[in-house]
Amino acid sequence: MNLKDHIREVPDFPKPGILFYDISTLLAHPDAWQVAMGRIAKAVAPRAPDVLAGIESRGFLVAAPLALKLGLGFVMVRKKGKLPGKTVRHEYALEYGTDTVEIQEGAIEPGQRVVILDDLLATGGTLNAAADLLTKVGANVVGAACLIELTFLKGRERTAIPVDSLIAYD
Ligand code: IMP
Repeated sequence: MNLKDHIREVPDFPKPGILFYDISTLLAHPDAWQVAMGRIAKAVAPRAPDVLAGIESRGFLVAAPLALKLGLGFVMVRKKGKLPGKTVRHEYALEYGTDTVEIQEGAIEPGQRVVILDDLLATGGTLNAAADLLTKVGANVVGAACLIELTFLKGRERTAIPVDSLIAYD
């Protein structure tokens, strides 16, 4: 099955000039979604993670079912102010300004092997921010995986984390 057939390309979203790759059509197609989950499970399992971390918000849609499939726990990496209780934050630079990601204190045991999941890898900035946060709380980040990779943005070359992706646009 060609999973690309199930990705919708939306021009000028969220801003004029941006082509947005929309996974809603993949999620809505149960057979294609099964295939995608099977393929991402095959890529992630050999990294032998103890825990999966999903990046808000579409990363949750990938990480949560994958965690169930692999019999693992799932933790959320969120934008600041969304998680209750004590949290650990990491601020990172954007093109203009900064952003902050957050995780609940104690969500990861020091030394646990973690794979990070998201829907799409572009420049790698989001992945690196999540990896830095997880490293800060003592995780051993052993890999990352996503449904879509925009290979022309070379995000893979800007991160030290080994990345698996299912669908490439170049
Ligand atoms: P990066 O930080 O430049 O690698 O951008 C990746 C992040 O932006 C991910 O969390 C994606 O969810 C989001 N993103 C960027 N472009 C798209 C897109 O075309 N479709 C869906 N998500 C996107």
